[in-house]
Amino acid sequence: MICEILSVGTELLLGDILNTNSQYLNRRLADLGISVYFNTTVGDNPQRLKKALEIAFSRSDMVIATGGLGPTKDDLTKEVSAEFFGKKLILHEESLNRIKEFFEKRGLPLTEGNIKQAYIIEGSKVIPNDWGTAPGIIYENNGKILILLPGPPREMIPMFETYVVPYLLTLSSETIQSKVLRVCGLGESFMEERIKDLIENQTNPTIAPYAKEGEAILRITAKAKSKEEAEKLIEEVEKEIRKRLGDFIYGEGDITLEEVVVKLLIEKGITIAVAESCTGGMISARIVNVPGVSKVFKEGIIAYSNESKVKRLNISEETLKKYGAVSKECALEMARNVAMISGADIGLSSTGIAGPEGGTSDKPVGLVYLGLYMNGVENYKELKLSGDRNRIRLYTTINALDFLRRHILNL
Ligand code: ATP
Repeated sequence: MICEILSVGTELLLGDILNTNSQYLNRRLADLGISVYFNTTVGDNPQRLKKALEIAFSRSDMVIATGGLGPTKDDLTKEVSAEFFGKKLILHEESLNRIKEFFEKRGLPLTEGNIKQAYIIEGSKVIPNDWGTAPGIIYENNGKILILLPGPPREMIPMFETYVVPYLLTLSSETIQSKVLRVCGLGESFMEERIKDLIENQTNPTIAPYAKEGEAILRITAKAKSKEEAEKLIEEVEKEIRKRLGDFIYGEGDITLEEVVVKLLIEKGITIAVAESCTGGMISARIVNVPGVSKVFKEGIIAYSNESKVKRLNISEETLKKYGAVSKECALEMARNVAMISGADIGLSSTGIAGPEGGTSDKPVGLVYLGLYMNGVENYKELKLSGDRNRIRLYTTINALDFLRRHILNL
């Protein structure tokens, strides 16, 4: 099986962005034992894209194209591919529903272009996009295979790992097993740094890192004659990874951070209450996601304004005046008081500046304090986050859950 990577995008030809997709795919295909003889880059031009497909299929059995699946007129990969094979584009209802839901969730209007993203090549398999809007496509025609993936690496990589790798494995006689380790509290690049040599030197199993909503994920994939043999290979590498990442690894497979936290609380019989300012209920909502949480979750108070902090949480006027609402003192008082008020064992709190306004040179946007109180012991964490309001609030929530997890683990 010979595969060609086709990178689509004028930005790549202008040197505006680095073609990290082809590097990633080259490496992963090598891991999977699939030969790559050519990489091609072409701009968003229909004639030249068609020509690139003709050339690629004249010398390769499979083409993996990335980019050009977006909503705008110059995103043409799907249209040109359909034309190349003489096929029509048809509406894929499930993708359309996913796209609609994606926009509804974000309160954004759906455009014609987004509807265009729900069209697929007639007779193709759809690769769901859980990380963005454009679905990917696997299209088989007379022994030739075309795989289309979106351009943004944060969509392309997890789609490739989750859906394309299992598909590619069906093309080979060897069995492939994979295991996912979930990492929190260590950014993707810091995580990579710690295990860089393993990622670079390991060919079987391979270790593929990627980021998902504030967490980092590691997928270990092994190829062997039997399932047992592949699992054994994974186990050895996993042991080394665990040695290096320790309790930054919070779980395996599909488990969520809140599930791990609630499981720990239930196991140890510890109850919790949450006082939130900048996260506006997001921490409580994540905790309440987990079924059975009523055994341990007492209450969540959203005390956004200073008045509310005083009225609902008995935060002293002095603390607010002397240190301000965004301070470790206020976070600790919020945690202590919510534990007292609710009678919970642990009080957890968040207070910070989510922006875009409200920052000062002393206290810039993205400055957040988390507080934790348990049995007279207080602990706080200062975060300096970047990004927009949503990102700051999301990362605060994840950090708070992880802060709580580590506290319970160390009891
Ligand atoms: P979108 O739905 O976001 O428009 P798309 O599938 O149409 O995605 P493009 O519009 O071609 O993809 O690219 C979107 C972005 O993805 C680019 O601006 C760039 O940041 C990134 N990207 C695209 N191709 C590559 C590549 N080969 N390597 C690295 N990044 C890429």
